[in-house]
Amino acid sequence: MRSDDLFTSLETIVGPGGILTSTADTAAYNLEHRGNFPGRALAVVRPRTTAEVSAVIKACAHARTPIIPQGGNTGLVGGSTPDDSGQEVVLSLERMRRIRQVNPLDNTITVESGCILQSVQEAATAHGRMFPLTLGSEGSATIGGNLSTNAGGDQVIRYGNTREQALGLEVVLADGSILNGLSPLRKDNSGYDLKHLFIGGEGTLGVITAATLKLYPLLRQQATAWIAVQDARQAVALLARLRDVLGDRITAFEIMARATVDLVLRHFPDLQEPLPGSRPWILLVDVSDTSVRYPLQEEFQLALAESMEQGLILDAAVASSERQSQTMWQIRASIPEAQRKEGPSLKHDISVPIPRIADFIDATVPKMSAIVPGIQCITFGHVGDGNLHFNQSMPPGMAKESFLAQADAIHDLVHETAAHMQGSISAEHGIGRQKQEIFMHYKDPVAISAMYRIKAALDPENLFNPGRLLPLRNS
Ligand SMILES: Cc1cc2nc3c(=O)[nH]c(=O)nc-3n(C[C@H](O)[C@H](O)[C@H](O)COP(=O)(O)OP(=O)(O)OC[C@H]3O[C@@H](n4cnc5c(N)ncnc54)[C@H](O)[C@@H]3O)c2cc1C
Repeated sequence: MRSDDLFTSLETIVGPGGILTSTADTAAYNLEHRGNFPGRALAVVRPRTTAEVSAVIKACAHARTPIIPQGGNTGLVGGSTPDDSGQEVVLSLERMRRIRQVNPLDNTITVESGCILQSVQEAATAHGRMFPLTLGSEGSATIGGNLSTNAGGDQVIRYGNTREQALGLEVVLADGSILNGLSPLRKDNSGYDLKHLFIGGEGTLGVITAATLKLYPLLRQQATAWIAVQDARQAVALLARLRDVLGDRITAFEIMARATVDLVLRHFPDLQEPLPGSRPWILLVDVSDTSVRYPLQEEFQLALAESMEQGLILDAAVASSERQSQTMWQIRASIPEAQRKEGPSLKHDISVPIPRIADFIDATVPKMSAIVPGIQCITFGHVGDGNLHFNQSMPPGMAKESFLAQADAIHDLVHETAAHMQGSISAEHGIGRQKQEIFMHYKDPVAISAMYRIKAALDPENLFNPGRLLPLRNS
């Protein structure tokens, strides 16, 4: 089919405002927000209903035109943008933003996949419930993107990843058929639980059009602490201790290396560190409770004082106001921007078993300094998930080319060490187009083979996101 004919078919389905073809109109969809992976879409199609998504998919399948599903385009691995062939259609879910139902009795919410995460949180709150997924990108990322990347975030320690929030999905398959799995059931053992194929599938198996998600009681008390510890080993020991005392009321347990905090303070001089002194590692810990019966802050302070007596903490400051808590979190949230301002950096998104976090750091940091003397290790992450954003910034004064010439040696060291410790080369952001080589290198070949067979069964013509996640192969 000629592209003119495809445009006509698509316009008939989605209406004149639903298809964008000019360079100016498609520019924002062609580029991920950091400017990486620039591409050129044949067209951007913006359906309004599941039936329209189905018809769009049928038309593209008929024209043998690949489809790139796109939500908020905040993904970090090049999975949501077209390549530069000018042959791929971006299917944007941005006109499917309806909250279909909130059911406080059932503790569920059913939303269309183009809903912005923040609006799902707000809809839940308006009904006296809480949707727990929180990300730095929550003002732009969509539920469809969160599901497709199985997004994590700050509260995974208590509530789990996006996968744990999904009860049912509505998905349009490669032949245009609609898999209506919008079930609110918490128990259903009638056959394969198909939703799990699409969660974390990075848009390679189908287009998610709606989801039924779990809701939780509102949090009525919260306390935040800025805690100094000697090293990551102490951080893990403290987490175990606080869990003994506070149970699952620990809602976030973030770690930051000294170099990370210093980088933020250097680029954002208005921010003030809550504790004096240059302590080697900082933890940012949130605890929260759904009940107001017992004062949580006192219990938290007591637990921290006991931990200090036991030698697990160097120093700690508990926020005395909401504003102080926000300032603490602002330091954490400013890390990516501080790294951007600092200049060239290398980024890794690895996980290892929680007890091995310190071993991982010990096994990599000294070797990195041997490869690039003066390298700045901008380490931070989620201790409770064993997930480190293990980034490195260029030493001040070094030539960019010299730094980047060592990138492969650093990447290899990080990934090799994580794999050796039974870790993952991608804990949060996924594979997309960015991490395929290391994915193919480190993933179990039996798992890779099974993934290709699932892809072939559900998308035999390779319509959805071809060459993303699973590299194309001649067959
Ligand atoms: C500042 C910032 C902070 C971030 N923090 C985190 C974090 O804490 N944790 C984390 O996990 N990630 C984080 N991310 C990464 C990103 O926000 C998440 O991966 C998010 O889930 C992507 O959602 P999106 O709607 O933007 O998806 P997109 O970027 O549009 O797409 C991501 C992938 O999902 C596919 N997709 C999108 N919608 C659909 C759909 N409806 N059906 C099928 N496939 C679809 C796309 O094809 C693509 O492969 C962050 C990103 C930024 C910029």
